[in-house]
Amino acid sequence: AALKQQTVTLPDQTHVRALGQGTWRMGEDQTKRQAEIEALHVGLDSGMELIDTAEMYGEGASEQLIREVLKERRDEVFLVSKVYPHNAGGEKLRTACERTLENLGTDYLDLYLLHWRGSIPLQETIDGLEQLKAEGKIRRWGVSNFDVKDMKELLSLDQGDQCAVNQVLYHLGSRGIEYELMPLLKQHGIPVMAYCPLAEGGSLRDQLLDHPTVERLAEEHGVKPAQILLAWAIRSGDVIAIPKAGQAQHVEENGKAALVDLSEEELAALDEAFPAPTKKEPLDIV
Ligand code: NDP
Repeated sequence: AALKQQTVTLPDQTHVRALGQGTWRMGEDQTKRQAEIEALHVGLDSGMELIDTAEMYGEGASEQLIREVLKERRDEVFLVSKVYPHNAGGEKLRTACERTLENLGTDYLDLYLLHWRGSIPLQETIDGLEQLKAEGKIRRWGVSNFDVKDMKELLSLDQGDQCAVNQVLYHLGSRGIEYELMPLLKQHGIPVMAYCPLAEGGSLRDQLLDHPTVERLAEEHGVKPAQILLAWAIRSGDVIAIPKAGQAQHVEENGKAALVDLSEEELAALDEAFPAPTKKEPLDIV
């Protein structure tokens, strides 16, 4: 069946599918390597064209794993990587970007993110990223783990409005950004990229997946609870969610989550179980 083409529009009017693939902790275990490569291929086949990585992930191991996937299909992928804050300026930024491209076996990134804010002045980072853009090494840039204050500062700087996304933690059990950060980003036409949309595995994920309301909706839609969480995360049309799944079965489920349409009543039931924030909360991070 053709998957619903739910897309999110970037500030430069590029459309990206609302569900992509995370790769944190991939490429670090030789015994899982083939399964992970296969999972990423299945994800692309399932319409999850965006692949998210970072120079930090396994210190290049995740990027090198993705290289295997890109070999056959670079032009099908919307490729995202991230620079360490301590590399986000001057010659270090260029060197980091070139190393990332080398690891990935490609000559450009679709999107390059500042992984989190460090001590290098933001204007220096912006200038360096704009330079990489001018050289064609990256198509666009964005930030990650920026709360309201950082975002406002970024937007006040020269060419700060070129920021294409802010990648932050967001899932049904952590809705703090809905209060102030999401409205601010929306006002500037900058999408949210939701990381840990499945609450990162572990006990919190299980609490969400086993919640009676989530289970009921999953049954009604004939899908898995994880698909309800993902459909919820991308419900506004301004959010790209990047679940990580090393198992092909999980990837297939995740790709199909874009087909799940939650009604107003169902969203209200989820609000009741997991209330939206009523005041500013500090940004949740991993
Ligand atoms: P996720 O919320 O994506 O959860 C991943 C876990 O959920 C894995 O254990 C995975 O299992 C499991 N899972 C995946 N699909 C399903 C499914 N359909 N049913 C049940 N379980 C499932 O956590 P991540 O921390 O990986 O976040 C996603 C991505 O976001 C990262 O991989 C990374 O790319 C990015 N990220 C960015 C950060 C930043 O600071 N910018 C911080 C953290 C993450 P399995 O692998 O076995 O299939």
